[in-house]
Amino acid sequence: MHAHKYDFDFRFFSELSKFVAAIEGDTGSSLFVIDLDALHNMQSDLGDSRKTLMLGELLQRLPSSQSYVYLQSARQGERFLLQQRLVDSNCLAYAEKPIANDMLVDKLFTLFVQKKRGDLLRLVCLGEAAALDAAALAAEQVEVILHADPMTLHLKVKEVQPEIVLIGDLEYERSEALVRVLKKNIEADPVREILLLQRRADPGLAGRALGSGFDALVQGPEPALVTAQLVNRASKIRVNRDLIGKDRATGLLNKVGLQKKTRELIRQAGREGRVLALGVVDIDKFKTINDTWGHHFGDIVIKRLSLTLASHMEEGDLLSRFGGEEFVVVLRDCTLDGAWRRLDAMRRAFGAIPFEVGPGDLRHFSFSGGLAAYPEYRSENELFLRADAMLYQAKESGRNRICHGPVAATGT
Ligand code: GH3
Ligand code: MG
Ligand code: MG
Repeated sequence: MHAHKYDFDFRFFSELSKFVAAIEGDTGSSLFVIDLDALHNMQSDLGDSRKTLMLGELLQRLPSSQSYVYLQSARQGERFLLQQRLVDSNCLAYAEKPIANDMLVDKLFTLFVQKKRGDLLRLVCLGEAAALDAAALAAEQVEVILHADPMTLHLKVKEVQPEIVLIGDLEYERSEALVRVLKKNIEADPVREILLLQRRADPGLAGRALGSGFDALVQGPEPALVTAQLVNRASKIRVNRDLIGKDRATGLLNKVGLQKKTRELIRQAGREGRVLALGVVDIDKFKTINDTWGHHFGDIVIKRLSLTLASHMEEGDLLSRFGGEEFVVVLRDCTLDGAWRRLDAMRRAFGAIPFEVGPGDLRHFSFSGGLAAYPEYRSENELFLRADAMLYQAKESGRNRICHGPVAATGT
């Protein structure tokens, strides 16, 4: 397997009871993969008779607190009922064999990253609270923010930057220009959905609403039905937001996602009188790495760096793959000096990783970094430009170091 290149720790099981024990002892950082072809090699260890394990028994004994990745043969995939049974059995995903090892490991990496995040979505609701079950939505990581005044809705949306705006039909009837005001703002989040909550069926009103910029209708008034529709919208929005704001290869924020989140953090720091630091990281002599060991190996180095940086992040920090082999970190509540210490620790951790470029041939790589801090640099753009200038200084003064001021800090 190519797994070690991604920092996965793989463990193989051939006995179901040991597998189940491992699942039950998991602390939430594992993925569980079941190769169904291996079934007939596995022994049922229930009772005294050691007989071949049956699919039904396997599915029944897998703890339902977890979900699983099933590997099925193409022939199994052709049988809809078998597939149905699998996807209904705590299935996180299934893969059809044959699948190339590196492709499988790549997909597992994506699932791994997805599993770790539980992104909160915000919903601003104009109208009565009665139609919403805020507790049920909160359980699905959707925070409900009620707003009463149609004339200040655009200001609330600007402040909160919600992913969903829900407008009641009565409120819409009273001021039809509401949605146009929200939609025509050039800075409006393209992922945001503006939904009309229909408390009573009115095809005329619904038609006008869709024509004036609403993205979809939500059928009320039963709170449970409204909640179910919103939960489904929310999961689509999460996917869309990821496609736009995240890097496919590493699961990290990309440039678009980073800019939006950094602006939020800066606003928050401004309100609360806090500091923060932004760092730009770039792998040293990466062209040589690509040229010497190939582009694919270069990609592996990038993924390892992403994992190293990720393991040094704290709650509320941001980590982004800004471009090819360039990363940006935003460290909350962190002074320039504090950020230097943290980024320098990341530099040392990455430099300590041995990469096996050939049998017995281990190499170490390095990155350089530049830092800037808020409020000295006030906007996301100013912070980035300053940190990038510091990165340039780090490169100029010998690489494998982090710079944050006029005097270059020396690396080791
Ligand atoms: P320096 O120390 O000055 O940063 O030298 P460098 O060779 O790393 O120079 P630079 O940062 O300009 O080079 C970036 C190279 O990274 C250029 C490009 O071919 C390569 N690259 C960009 N994106 C990817 C990627 O996703 N995968 C791989 N394998 N290579 C990439
Ligand atoms: Mg670069
Ligand atoms: Mg580089």
